[in-house]
Amino acid sequence: MNDPLGNSPLGGSVNTDQKLQSGQAVVTGVPLCVIGGGFVGLVTAAGFAEFGHSVICVEKDAAKLTSLEKGEVPFYERDLAELVQKNMACGKLSFSGDIDEAIKDSQVIFITVGTPSGADGRTDHTALDEVILSLSDKLNSDQIVVLKSTVPVGTGQRITRLLAEKNSQSEPIAVVNNPEFLREGNAVYDFFNPQRIVIGSSSKEASEKIVHLYRLGMIKAVPVVLTENETAEMIKYASNAFLATKVGFINELAGLCDLASVNVLEVARGMGLDPRIGPDFLDPGPGWGGSCFGKDMREIIGMAKANDYHWNIGQAVLDANEKQYDWVVSKISKLTGGLKNSKIAALGLAFKAGTSDVRDSPAIEVIKKLIEAGATVSAFDPQANGEAKIAIPELQVAESIYEAAVDADCLVILTEWQEFQLLDFTRLKQTMNQPNLVDSRNLLVPEAVRKYGLKYEGMGQR
Ligand code: NAD
Repeated sequence: MNDPLGNSPLGGSVNTDQKLQSGQAVVTGVPLCVIGGGFVGLVTAAGFAEFGHSVICVEKDAAKLTSLEKGEVPFYERDLAELVQKNMACGKLSFSGDIDEAIKDSQVIFITVGTPSGADGRTDHTALDEVILSLSDKLNSDQIVVLKSTVPVGTGQRITRLLAEKNSQSEPIAVVNNPEFLREGNAVYDFFNPQRIVIGSSSKEASEKIVHLYRLGMIKAVPVVLTENETAEMIKYASNAFLATKVGFINELAGLCDLASVNVLEVARGMGLDPRIGPDFLDPGPGWGGSCFGKDMREIIGMAKANDYHWNIGQAVLDANEKQYDWVVSKISKLTGGLKNSKIAALGLAFKAGTSDVRDSPAIEVIKKLIEAGATVSAFDPQANGEAKIAIPELQVAESIYEAAVDADCLVILTEWQEFQLLDFTRLKQTMNQPNLVDSRNLLVPEAVRKYGLKYEGMGQR
């Protein structure tokens, strides 16, 4: 059922699977509020402003808000600062710390606050609940609340009930789940080029209004999945859990390839050409990271347990990922002949290229293990040195690749930044104490490195 939407933004039949296309309707911008100016919130706010909506983004953290009001993005995400500044300059995007004032004239309120793992592994939705409680008696029934944060299955309905209880309007406040699928490092691109838009609500009218918000800016057809709140919530968890599983699969296979003297990159290519498998997420590395995969996997595991259901694959994927850090550490240790008193140069700290985010970064986990084993680590990341210093205060951060490499017994590539593909091996060899290189991202061509007299270890490339 991939029919384009009809001409009227709110009219026409809406099926459960449609394609969204712009240029068909005469549309005008809608006043929107985005609550939470983090990675998702800021991209959402700036992206919708670029579409022509008038957006006010509310941020609670005073230091972040001060930066945002000056047009400074407090973290690195490719192209985001430019997008924010451009839309602030033309008056489409503004920032505030006053939630009550911000929602007053907004037709749609997106909530993009964090939903981290709690101590028991289940989602801590305190920040979301705080926002809802502070809004509950101030909303009118023409406004729509959109949960863009990743929230446990059942949250949309729970929030609907909570609002019905606390709000005195005669009509209920509509709650829509519109989970976010952006990839950090490509978040701006992904906002304008989504693979799909998932909208879940028991209110058909509210769902159609959210489709309309996206339609204003989309330049190509995008599939829209219109569904119930719970299904939208589960789609988000299932997608992240599946991707984490796929990466976990190729990572464990890389270990086996190492032992069996098979090149995992050729295996991955041979597998990925099968359209049932696909080539994406088949790159072995030091383990997946970022703020989502782990916490979302833990939430599903918790949900299964609460329902007395054995979801075995989830824990296996988490365990396989942890094992990956040890594998990288053991490769370094083998080359240096032990880690105690060794000096390791780490290239990359962010959990992936294109971002300064170090949340659950495998680079951070590997470095912690190296330090625990008695090594000194000097690290360099083009964007994440500051964030990494907060995560590991004792870490020595360098201003350049070659400063990090001074007297190192081994250099390890931990993040796939493009500039690490252009290493000057002659200079490295002169700078380092021992010419060892572990490439946990398989970023380099082994023969090209070995030609310069360095010992090279990739992942599953024997
Ligand atoms: P984040 O921690 O970077 O941002 C959350 C922001 O909300 C913070 O700046 C925080 O100060 C602010 N905040 C908290 N309470 C507030 C309040 N009451 N009023 C105003 N601001 C408030 O988190 P994030 O990475 O942007 O993730 C947000 C949500 O999106 C999470 O549920 C996450 O799972 C989901 N998500 C994240 C990604 C990603 O790549 N980061 C991708 C898809 C979905």
